[in-house]
Amino acid sequence: MTVWDDLVGQEKVSEQLAAAARDADALVTAASAGTAPPEASSMTHAWLFTGPPGAGRIRTARAFAAALQCVSPDRALGGVPGCGFCDGCHTVLVGTHADVSTVAAVGAEILVKDMRDTVRKSYTAPATGRWQVILVEDAERLNEKSANAVLKAVEEPAPRTVWLLCAPSLEDVLPTIRSRCRHLNLRTPSVDAVADMLVRREGVEPAVAAAAARATQGHVDRARRLATDPAARERRAAVLKLPLRVQDVGGCLKAAQELVDAAAEDAKQLAEERDGKETDELKAAMGAVQGGRMPRGTAGVMKDLEEMQKRRRTRTQRDSLDVALSDLTAFYRDVLALQLGSRIALSNVDAEDTLERLARAGTPESTLRRIEAIAACGVALDRNVPPLLAVEAMTMALRAG
Ligand SMILES: [Zn+2]
Repeated sequence: MTVWDDLVGQEKVSEQLAAAARDADALVTAASAGTAPPEASSMTHAWLFTGPPGAGRIRTARAFAAALQCVSPDRALGGVPGCGFCDGCHTVLVGTHADVSTVAAVGAEILVKDMRDTVRKSYTAPATGRWQVILVEDAERLNEKSANAVLKAVEEPAPRTVWLLCAPSLEDVLPTIRSRCRHLNLRTPSVDAVADMLVRREGVEPAVAAAAARATQGHVDRARRLATDPAARERRAAVLKLPLRVQDVGGCLKAAQELVDAAAEDAKQLAEERDGKETDELKAAMGAVQGGRMPRGTAGVMKDLEEMQKRRRTRTQRDSLDVALSDLTAFYRDVLALQLGSRIALSNVDAEDTLERLARAGTPESTLRRIEAIAACGVALDRNVPPLLAVEAMTMALRAG
């Protein structure tokens, strides 16, 4: 399996990136041999990956980063860099390559202090002599200060530095930054392409793969999680019962509370897995003495870490709620399709009885109103309305009538 096999339904983009990786490799080879670089090259120092959620912006950028660091001997024989198993590819894919840095928002914004070290690194030569790669996972979350730091670095790049920026759309990135990037737009992969990937790469049963792909409508990561993680399937089943539970005010409030609690629990579990280990590592790195007492002058660093972990917990809870909202939206879209007699494939074939019941009980107008209420909940969460308040407003609006 090469790194390119990770890209689902993105043939055109894969071809362009593979060509650039080949040219990038020729540049490195020429430089180390002391010969003149090739005249034409499709390699460039800044790339912008856009596309709808779940299409695989970050996965694509990471595959490209791996190909840039690929040291497989096959390259010399005309093979495409990005073998997937050499030391270069492997360390990039697991996140330990010394010359690949990742920047991701831990809260609503990427703060300049969170990326100061990375920006500094972008001005230096790569340790392995290939490429210094900086991957910004959510460039739409750069704030004014951090965007300016990126802009300066992209304007005056070190010879071997490559910036890979990911964002939902072009409009999410400052015009001054995007004008310096080569732009690649990913499309939503087809349900069949996602199902095929789940079977081939994850070894999922074809029927389970097809159901997960259909339910998540081309969102690759969610499809993978749904197909492979029983807890994700349970959470989804609970969310899809919600439309039947919002009959009265009591039911609405209870359903809202449970939805928010489930998201908080999801965030807590992920945090427990990561936070303790991170804190221990930092303590060890700063030389904690026996009994956990920290050396003088290190309190600020520990406080920064705690603050970052808190922001990340809020963000994870939000991401988990997002999954619930998108499951609910897909559910009501199915109800609407039945009401309109549309022939589009349903996302929730497994819940067809419930869908039909709700379709008969309401009108297309009332279903549209509910879909709007779910979207409004997402907007409220974006504006930092307390989650319970936003979700209660939504469940009340989902009520029959
Ligand atoms: Zn490789």
